[in-house]
Amino acid sequence: MHATRIKTKAVGLLSGGLDSTLAAKLMQEQGVEVCAVNFTSSFCTCTPKKAGCAAAVTAVKGLGGVSLKQIALRDEYLDMVKHPKHGYGSQMNPCIDCRIMKIKKAGEYMKKIDADFMFTGEVLGQRPMSQHKRAMQMIAAESGFPEYLLRPLSAAHFEPTVPELEGWVDRNKLLAITGRSRKTQISLAAEKGIRDYPCPAGGCLLTDKNFSERIRDYFIFTKNPSMGDIPLLKTGRHFRLENGDKVIVARNENECNVLRNLWIESDHFLVPFDFSGPTVILQGTDLKTALGKLVAYTTPPVWDTARVTHRHGAEKKIMFLDAF
Ligand code: SF4
Repeated sequence: MHATRIKTKAVGLLSGGLDSTLAAKLMQEQGVEVCAVNFTSSFCTCTPKKAGCAAAVTAVKGLGGVSLKQIALRDEYLDMVKHPKHGYGSQMNPCIDCRIMKIKKAGEYMKKIDADFMFTGEVLGQRPMSQHKRAMQMIAAESGFPEYLLRPLSAAHFEPTVPELEGWVDRNKLLAITGRSRKTQISLAAEKGIRDYPCPAGGCLLTDKNFSERIRDYFIFTKNPSMGDIPLLKTGRHFRLENGDKVIVARNENECNVLRNLWIESDHFLVPFDFSGPTVILQGTDLKTALGKLVAYTTPPVWDTARVTHRHGAEKKIMFLDAF
């Protein structure tokens, strides 16, 4: 298709961070039309709920003339997080499989919109798990489009790809950046007028130690994991009881509201009725312990004859604490 089109068209994986924004800028400078694709999931730490990626939107605005396709990663992604072929990083982050899945999807989008190639902001040696040479080669190969995947920031360290061989981009103008320091990228970005990159290295909950413990526990106790459960995993204090039940206690007013919205009828839902205290969800049957947690996180201490609203299924009861 390229032969019949005047302008080369490429799909760029854009996180809204410094590296991918700079890579997109380099492609634009070579006269390439950039079609950005951005992936969001419940594990993104900088994505406001239900919104797309604000960082990618900002980056696209700054670049000008770039279209943006946002793709939400759902249960297929969660399945991969549970069983990554290439294992985890320091926490529950399956970076290699994650990159493969995203690049594969970007490749499908490339085909769909009849683009000529795709590119990423990956930098050789920047991330220990997914950006050493062998990993980057493997990611390219397993994504299914190795010859069409260009890494403009580190291209000099890799074999030429189709867009370089065909002369759609000038390999001599591509870069040879390596390593973890972002100094080169920062000064290049300043030179090129890129100032706003709100998500410098991306934010991913799967690299967080505490959250990783939660999701490990979730995988052990959940037969059919669903991305729909992740917002609840991110909210409140979580207690796994000896009988396998789980108690979730809100930490502040905002979390009380979140738990109210996330509660489903098969769980128990406890809300202080005539005192001020945390909202609690119980997944299981041990109401006594769940209530004990509600009381434990109520300050000042609550009296025995205080009441809570208890909802389960279609039922709603107001009960004295000492009735449990
Ligand atoms: S840090 Fe998270 S989003 Fe980034 S590659 Fe690893 S798993 Fe994927």
